[in-house]
Amino acid sequence: MGKKLYIETYGCQMNEADSELALGILQDKGYTRTYEIAESDVILVNTCAVREHAEERILGRLGYFSTIKSRKPDIVVGVLGCMGQHLQDQLLTPSNGADGVDLVIGPDGYRRLPELIDRARGSDPFLDVRLDRHELYSDVDPLRTEGVRAWVSVMRGCDKFCTFCIVPFVRGRERCLPAATVLEQVTRCADEGFQEIVFLGQTVNSYRDGDTDFGDLLRRANDVPGVERIRFTSPHPAKMTDSVIDAMADCGKVMPQLHLPLQSASDAMLERMQRSYTIDEYDEIVGKLRQRIPDIALGTDIIVGFHGETEEDFLATHEYMKRTRFDSAFMFKYSMREGTRSCKWGDTVSEEEKGSRLRTVIELQEGISAEINRSWVGREVEVLVEGESKNGDGQLSGKSRQFKTVVFPGNGCMPGDIRSLRVRGATAHTLIGEWFDTSRAPTATSE
Ligand code: SF4
Repeated sequence: MGKKLYIETYGCQMNEADSELALGILQDKGYTRTYEIAESDVILVNTCAVREHAEERILGRLGYFSTIKSRKPDIVVGVLGCMGQHLQDQLLTPSNGADGVDLVIGPDGYRRLPELIDRARGSDPFLDVRLDRHELYSDVDPLRTEGVRAWVSVMRGCDKFCTFCIVPFVRGRERCLPAATVLEQVTRCADEGFQEIVFLGQTVNSYRDGDTDFGDLLRRANDVPGVERIRFTSPHPAKMTDSVIDAMADCGKVMPQLHLPLQSASDAMLERMQRSYTIDEYDEIVGKLRQRIPDIALGTDIIVGFHGETEEDFLATHEYMKRTRFDSAFMFKYSMREGTRSCKWGDTVSEEEKGSRLRTVIELQEGISAEINRSWVGREVEVLVEGESKNGDGQLSGKSRQFKTVVFPGNGCMPGDIRSLRVRGATAHTLIGEWFDTSRAPTATSE
């Protein structure tokens, strides 16, 4: 009987994709995945170091796994990924709340997982957090989770070194997979029945393999038979070249949706964050995107209360969000992360003020998102069906081309189907869909 592996993943899609890599590597060595902790021989936690809150949550989870290990001492508990790289041997110190961790492996060490798990059994805990600027896992077949969407990592690491960010320190320097390998993976995903491909990279549009830039990669993926939709995340504004924008506009399978992190609309903050663009340059990209792809949905990331952010800086961000009208935004209070450059500068905005600024932008964005979504009422949307809606009310949900969640009466639709629906209602986060008429529903009546 093969060993059973239980894995939990925290953080971004890159971590999801890395868990699929780890699963692929271990499946090759006879492991099978289980979703039941009780029957597992190995528990792996693939972790996120970007926010302190995530690390605290994971430490709590490791405490729970240590109680399981005290009842079942043969079980191996491993921490993978960014938090392993960030905290390293602190994770093997019981006083840090991680009693029972047998191994800690950084994002470039997954290839050695089978060997390290074997060594961890019965020996002292140890760690492997060497960064390897050549590791791309190009030859590894990820074990992709079933669904309609496949993650394809096209690059690893980051060279940008934004002053608030821990990623370049825990994921290492930027390197790209060969284009031929990426396209092989896209073809395999299509053959396995995935309808949507999401290219991943910390600054995905920095991709380059010889003469092939990210725009070329999108064009080549667009030609792969069987692929219905292509998206990518996260792009860096400074790398949003005409080549990428033109490819988005020209390729029918590249969806009209982009999450383009802004962080702040104050040039002083952007410079201090070392984002390598000004607000005018960012705005020019937004203008080009909206001109070339008129129905594009734009999302962004915003940080409030960064070191030195004045009321005026904050108001510049607020004003820009009001004017630009993003479809959605992830908004955060700045929190210092040990190991980053800005951590050395300290905090200049009180928690109370950060909270107040955050509430202000959330309120603004919720209103804008609701208004934009309401403007979809009465329009037709093409939905890729994903499965049952989270509400558990028997409805289905899927994503529109703009990556908006659409909830609708299923009437026999299956995950993976692509259907046209009419929007009959909307909230800030969801569109409510209905069938145009009974003849267009796959079976019987709609509502
Ligand atoms: S681009 Fe900046 S924020 Fe994004 S991963 Fe790299 S350093 Fe972090």
